[in-house]
Parts: sequence; C-alpha cells; structure tokens
Amino acid sequence: MTQVFISVPTKLLLLVIGALLLLSAGFSIVSLTRLNAEFKTYQAETLVQGQEQFKFHEKTLKDQLRVWIESFSDVIHLQEKNDFIDLTAELSKQFDALQLHHNVEKMWLIDSKKNVLYSSGPTPNYVIDSVNKTLDMQEPQHLLYCQAYCEQLLTVPLLNKKGDMIVVALSVSLVDMIYAINQSIKSQIAIVSYPKANNTKLNEAKFLSASNIELMRALFNQRNPSISVDEIKRMGVQVDLDLESYLINLMPLASNNQRSYYMALIDDVTKITSESQQYRYQFLLSAVLIFVTLAGLVYFVASPLTQRLLVLSNALPLLARKEFDQFRRIKLKRKSVFSDELDVLADASSELSYELEQLNIEVEQKTKELENIAMYDLLTGLPNRNMLNYQLRKSVANLSQFKQKVAVLFLDLDDFKKVNDSHGHGQGDRLLIEAANRVRLSIRNVDVACRFGGDEFVVVLGKIESVEEAKVVAEEILQRFKTPIKIGSSVFYVSTSIGIAFTEDKMIKAEELISYADIAMYEAKDNGGAQYHIYHPEMYQRVAHRVMLEGEVRQALAKNQFSLSLQPQLVAKTNRIYGFEALLRWKHPTRGMISPDDFIPILENSTHMIELGYWIIRRCFELAIDIKKQGLNGARIAINLSAGQFIDPNLPNYLQDLLVEFSIPASSFELELTEQTLVKNVEHTITMMETLKSLGFSFAIDDFGTGYSSLAYLKQMPVDVIKIDKSFIFGMLENHSDYQIIMSTIAMVKNLGLMVVAEGVETSAQLRSLMQNDCDLIQGYYFSKPIPEVELIDFINTHIVDSHWKTKAQ
Ligand code: C2E
Ligand code: CA
Ligand code: CA
Repeated sequence: MTQVFISVPTKLLLLVIGALLLLSAGFSIVSLTRLNAEFKTYQAETLVQGQEQFKFHEKTLKDQLRVWIESFSDVIHLQEKNDFIDLTAELSKQFDALQLHHNVEKMWLIDSKKNVLYSSGPTPNYVIDSVNKTLDMQEPQHLLYCQAYCEQLLTVPLLNKKGDMIVVALSVSLVDMIYAINQSIKSQIAIVSYPKANNTKLNEAKFLSASNIELMRALFNQRNPSISVDEIKRMGVQVDLDLESYLINLMPLASNNQRSYYMALIDDVTKITSESQQYRYQFLLSAVLIFVTLAGLVYFVASPLTQRLLVLSNALPLLARKEFDQFRRIKLKRKSVFSDELDVLADASSELSYELEQLNIEVEQKTKELENIAMYDLLTGLPNRNMLNYQLRKSVANLSQFKQKVAVLFLDLDDFKKVNDSHGHGQGDRLLIEAANRVRLSIRNVDVACRFGGDEFVVVLGKIESVEEAKVVAEEILQRFKTPIKIGSSVFYVSTSIGIAFTEDKMIKAEELISYADIAMYEAKDNGGAQYHIYHPEMYQRVAHRVMLEGEVRQALAKNQFSLSLQPQLVAKTNRIYGFEALLRWKHPTRGMISPDDFIPILENSTHMIELGYWIIRRCFELAIDIKKQGLNGARIAINLSAGQFIDPNLPNYLQDLLVEFSIPASSFELELTEQTLVKNVEHTITMMETLKSLGFSFAIDDFGTGYSSLAYLKQMPVDVIKIDKSFIFGMLENHSDYQIIMSTIAMVKNLGLMVVAEGVETSAQLRSLMQNDCDLIQGYYFSKPIPEVELIDFINTHIVDSHWKTKAQ
C-alpha cells in the first residue's frame, strides 16, 4: 500500500478548518434559532397588539354609541312618554349628525311588534335577527357583519313610560376603525375574505377594504400560493417585496356560510430581517477572517518546523552511511533565543552521530582484531585456512578475467610427529615457526602462504603462466629445507613433501584444488618424502581405490576372508626345514583371490593395514603352535611387517603379550622388513629392532638389492638374514649382472656373519648355482608354492620327514 504524504501544516490547517466549520455551524444554528424565536415573539406581539387595538376600538365605538343613544333618550324624556313618536322624530333628525360624527351609516327604529318606525334604508334580515335577539335579551347587542364590506351593528333597547320596548339599530362602517387602528399600531391593515374551504391559499383573498390597497395586492398575489390561510392564521407569513420584507398576520373577524372574514395586519419587518441578515453576513465574514488568519498562523508556525524536520530526515541517512562529518556539517539548529523540541532533537542526533562514530571506530577495530584471529594463524603469523579459502576463491574467480593460471602447493613436513613426540610441543612449535619462515621466504610477494593445520602449509600461486613456475617455487622450498634447523642445542633435519595442483579451469572449486594438491603430496610422501609431485587424475583414481580398499579390508577382517599361506624355506646343504614364510591371502567374495601385491602396498600406511598386520601376527603364533605339534620344533615362521606396523609404538608390547599368551619362544619367529622400511627412519629402525631383538626375535631384510640400503646401515642393525630379491634369482643364469649381484651379496653377507636366503628359486639349475656359491637358505616354487594354512598339516605329513624335505628320490 502506498502512503499518501500529507505534511504537518496541511494536517493542522485541515484541523483548523474543521474546527472553524463546526464552530460556525454551531454559532449559526444558535443565532438563527434565537433570531427565529425573536421573530416569532415579534409576530405574536403584533397579532396581540392588533387584536387588542381592534377590541379597544370596537368597544369604544360600541360604548360611545350606546351612551349617546341612552343619553339621547334621557334628553327627550322617553321615560315620560307613552309612545315612541317623539323619539322617532328627534332621532331621525339626528341621523345626519350621527353619520357625520360617529360614522353611522344606517339606522333603524323597530318596536317590539317588529314595526319599523324609522329606517335609513332597507332593513336586511341580519338587522331583524339582531333586533329580535335584543328584544329577547332586553339588553344591547353588538354584531360584526361582513358581506360586501364589513360593518358593526349595534342594537340598543329603550323603554318608554308604559314599559314598551323599542330597539335602535345602528350600523357603523369599519373603515374608520381600520384607519384608527392603523394610526395607533403603525401596521397596515386590510379586511379580506376567503372562501370557506379547506386549504385556501393566500392569493385567493378578496379585499373589502385596505389602508394601502396597492401594497396589499402586491403582497398577497406575489407570494407563492402554496402557503395556506390556516397556516398564516397560526403563525403568519413573511413576504419579500422588492427590497422590503413584510409580515402578514390574519385575525379572524367574522364568517358566514360562504366566506370567512379577516383583518390582515401587515408589518414592515425589513429592518428586522435586514438586521438579522447583516448579523449573519458579519458572522460569516468574521468566520472567514478568523479562518484566514489562523491558516496563515498555522502555516507561519508549522512550515519552518517541517522545513527543519525535512532537513533532519534528509541528513539522517548520512549516519547510516557512516558519513559522520558530512552529517555534522549540515546546520540542524537555528540561531534563536528560544529553543524547541526540534532543537532538542537536533542536539540529540548530533550527539548520536558522535556516539555512532565512536561505536563505528570500535567495531572496525574489533572487526580487524577478529579478522586477524579469524584469518591468521597465531603461532606462525601466516594466514590461516579461512584466509586461504578466501584468497584461493579470489584467484580462481580471477581466472575468467585474466589469462592466468593458479597453482596450489600442499606441504607436509616429513616425520614432524616424531619431533613432537620426542622433543615436546615447545620444540615442535619453534620448528613450525622456522618452517613457516622458510616457506614465506620461498614465495613471491603476490603469492600467499598459509598454515593449513598441524605441520601442513599451503601456498597459493595466484598469477602464473605455467606449471614450471610452481615447480620453481617447490624446488626453492625443498632447497631451503635442506639446511638443518637449529633450535637451542638441538639440530633437526626436517624435509617436506610437496603436492602441486595446477589449473586454468575457472569452474574448479578451491576445496577441490587443495584436495588435489593434498593427494599429490601423499604421493610425494609415499615415494619417500623430501620431494614434490604434481597432481594427476590417476592419483585421484589411486586414492579412490585406496579408500575403497580400506573399507573392504575392514569388512574382510570381520568376515574372515583373510588367511595365510606358508612357503617352506630349506637349508640348502641339508634340505632341513629352516622355516616357513607366512604370506597373506584374501579370498574376496566377488573378485576371487586377491594378490597381496595388489592391496598391501596401497594400504601401506593406513590404520587398517596395521590392524590387519596384528591379525596376521596372531595367526602366525597360532600356526607356530600347530607346526610345533607336527614335530617341527626348530622351524621358524617368517612374518612380513609393513612399514606402518614397524613404526607403530604398540608393536613391542603386542608381541610381548603374545609370547606370554602362547608361551612360545621369540626365536620361533623371524621378522621380515623391506629395505624401504629400514631406510625410512634409520634411527627409529635401529631402536625398534634392538627392542624386539631383546625380546628374542630375529630379523630378515626382504627384497634385498631393490632398495638403496647400503651395507653400512646393515652393520649397525641387529640383522640375522638377508633375502636376495627374487627378481635377481629369476634371471641369474641368463643375466650376468644379476648373477654378479647375487654372488657378491652372498659373499658380503657371509663376511658380515649373517645368513642369506635366495627366494624365487624355481629350477634345479638355479638351486645348483646358488649352492655352489654357498647360499644358506632356499625358498621357491622349486620346492613348494606357498601352502594354504588348511592344507599345512597334510603337507607337512606328506613332504617333510624328521624336519627334512623328502627328496624326490626318497
Ligand atoms: P615377498 O615378501 O617377497 O614374498 C615372496 C613372494 O614371492 C610371495 O608372493 C611368493 O608367493 C612369491 N614366490 C615365492 N617363490 C616363488 C617362485 O619360485 N617363483 C615366483 N614367481 N614367486 C615366488 P605373494 O604371496 O604374492 O606375496 C607378495 C608380496 O606381498 C610379498 O613379497 C610381501 O611383500 C607381501 N606380503 C605377503 N604377505 C604379507 C604379509 O603377511 N604381510 C606383509 N606385510 N606383506 C606381505
Ligand atoms: Ca617376504
Ligand atoms: Ca621378497
């Protein structure tokens, strides 16, 4: 819903108009009713006055004439007369005088026998009726009679000496009375008649006489005829004529069968009405004046207020935009002696601006601190993972804009855990700080080095042309780590493995790129560390395969899919059984037999492999018991140890516990370690070997010749047996160099006082050659393939007699 904007002055103005309208309406109603009431009283008063005047004049006339007649009868001594002859004669003589002085128009003398003794004209019935009434009542009668005009009839009874009665009837015109009333009350007067019917209208009047006949006619005819006579009788009517206003009142006089007769009183009320009109005009004018003044006043007071309010409301968004100075530059206060709410508001908002600014500064400071905490690693001062994600995302996003490539280097210090374990976390931390410095020094200004966690660092090369640049940086890092790190009195040889992921794909995710570099780093680590590897999708396949395998191995352990096969080792000269090498077998429910070569190297360092290794060791102990039961007391079981298992600190305890549990001597076992395992950490290897040696275990070095192990190492280690790798044996008769290696190895080993095993001996020719060269022990298909553990007892029984191999001849 859109809101309609109405400014405060407009609202105030509307309020004032409303109030004034109400006020004027109230006033008008009150004054009009008062005027009406006044007018009514005036009208009523006029009517009463008219009636009183009429009665007064009527009575005066009546009394005058009566007194006159009675005194006249006295003057002529009627009481002493026996007839009415004198009265008739004298009275008829007086008729002219009566006409002249008393406006008598007609006169009759009628005796009790209804004889008309005198008459100034014909004697109409109403005169006779009135005379009869007078005779009956024996007192004067008075009658107002209207026909063509209105007259008063006065009948006075007179008595003579004999007591005979005579009635003097006098008819007097009303004209003079009208004139007299007119004089005394200043009202114009007319006698009018109306037909005796319902709803007679004003203009149906017939004038009998009038004080101003033109005015009367104009008034009576001009008026809207809808107003009825009955109404006028009740409350009069006001008629406007030209500029004048008149009030007409009707006063009933007489009526006969056909018509009613009225005295009309006409008052000039022009003055009164014009006064009220003027009063109304004045009232209206002053209302308008007050309104205009108030409106002006409202505008004058409110408009500066709204102006200031608008300025303030326009300024307030500046606070939201943090433009505090700009806000304060706006003049919100006026220079005035008096202040108002708006000045208070202006003060408050300027104070608010200072407080907000302060708050803003604090928030910015805290944000920066938080950013530092959130974005930087506290130990090394390098950007942390959050910052890395942010920077990397930015770099990837820039790929589409600039024709550049992005590389991520994932670094993991080799064997850092050992430093931590052996020298404590304090030393570890100092080492990390130095490592961080070396990484920092190896990169360009535009690159970002972050601490990813633990001993892991990630370098983002945001703007490079080719992968070669990433290689250069990686090499620089490796080079810097070649210098040993000195912390206090200790010196550490720390190397790092680096995985490089490189992309120009703008759709790639930062996390993906890091995980690729991580995969490549593992590859570098698996290859011995202190090197860099560049990510390749195959690596991902390998990792995925490895993850899948790890899951499967766990299940296989639970479902007993693993078993061991045992391959005999013979003493070359005597065919005595030296022992058996235990080799792992995995019978996969869907994939069938899986070769240990296909999963052991892949799982090399995983915890699953260690778990599996312990299972193998325990199984070997069980089999050793079985073999002993078959009478092969001196035979030892050779157990292959994975590199991960060999560095597991639990290994000595585990073996010790088994020795106790199975009460079997450690000399029944030979632990096989590959050359790679040996060289991974020479120091640790020697310590571990010595520990295990002290328990009574012997050691064989497996796959000898394939690694870099020098005899210098071997001299320091408590090794018992060297196993020449089968790859040399396979080609020993065809390949002279293989042969040379075998022969010199045998000689060397003998020189050290150790025993030597040839594995992979498949032919009698190989066997013969090895025997000629004094090889101690033989293992290979020539004698036997590895025997599944379930077939072992059978095998021993059929192939071994008295701890000796049954030769074919036997
Ligand atoms: P390895 O320790 O060198 O074991 C000897 C391998 O050579 C065995 O293969 C064995 O069957 C094979 N072999 C023996 N004589 C001959 C022969 O005359 N001709 C040929 N062609 N091969 C012969 P296998 O059983 O497939 O084992 C492969 C590798 O898997 C082993 O090499 C070892 O490194 C690893 N492995 C096997 N079992 C275990 C185990 O229990 N633990 C660990 N950690 N590794 C094991
Ligand atoms: Ca082996
Ligand atoms: Ca081997």
